[in-house]
Amino acid sequence: MASEPDDARARRAVAPVICYPTATLPKPDLKLYRAARLDAQKTGEILIPPREAGCFNVPAGHFFRISSVDGPQVGDLNLWNANDLTERFYSGKTRALHGTHITTGDRLWTSFPSLRPMATIIKDTLDWYGIDQFGGSVHDVIGTRCDPYTGNLLNDIHYHHCCHSNLTRAMADHLGVSLAEAEPLIHDVMNVFMCTGFTRDTGQYFMKASPARPGDHIEFFAEIDILGCMSACPGGDCAADHTSDVAPCYPLLVEIFVPEDGALKDWHSPLLNQYDGSHGR
Ligand SMILES: [Zn+2]
Repeated sequence: MASEPDDARARRAVAPVICYPTATLPKPDLKLYRAARLDAQKTGEILIPPREAGCFNVPAGHFFRISSVDGPQVGDLNLWNANDLTERFYSGKTRALHGTHITTGDRLWTSFPSLRPMATIIKDTLDWYGIDQFGGSVHDVIGTRCDPYTGNLLNDIHYHHCCHSNLTRAMADHLGVSLAEAEPLIHDVMNVFMCTGFTRDTGQYFMKASPARPGDHIEFFAEIDILGCMSACPGGDCAADHTSDVAPCYPLLVEIFVPEDGALKDWHSPLLNQYDGSHGR
């Protein structure tokens, strides 16, 4: 290890600044969305079994709710533009804009070059949780998804019901394509109901038992036509283990709602990012 310079303390004492101040970020009209949600009618639902994944479509201007049903359960969520699967959820930029965990009022952003809101969180029954004494919080956009490759790397195993594989199988079935064609579509997730953080001493990613209980839910407004796919993580509440069949696991419910005609007034789907795309050429 390199030796500390004489001014090490002064260098560490420099105050941080926020990378992306959000004061100029276009704000969602939560009041409008919530008013539209009041009389919205349910149009469908899927129950995602434990250690499996399921796909669902949400048209722009509709709502979807993810609920804990029989017990605490983490969901690994992927989202795409239903009309162009190359535009998908960008967890890294969502994290850069809103922080490591997202909740009511935060938005899920799409990949480059679109970079626009694809969904807005309008309700989160766990938004009371905040940040606990370990630095943990709920619904992270820092985890990548449990996957068979890391499991193999660390423990020399072949486990097939990690979220990555569950999402791959579900998307292959939904699109009618091979696993090899579906797998590259799977991307870093939003970890719904997962409680995570980074240790202060080593900076390592940690998880702890999800505070979700049956009835807890999170609701989104679809800003664009969405194809969603969610896995009920084999880690269950992610209190101790994943990448195995050890943890108790429960289903997750996804419900879709359509607002009444005119309820969204003059709302329109967000435009693609307006950068001119010339990259200096
Ligand atoms: Zn998982």
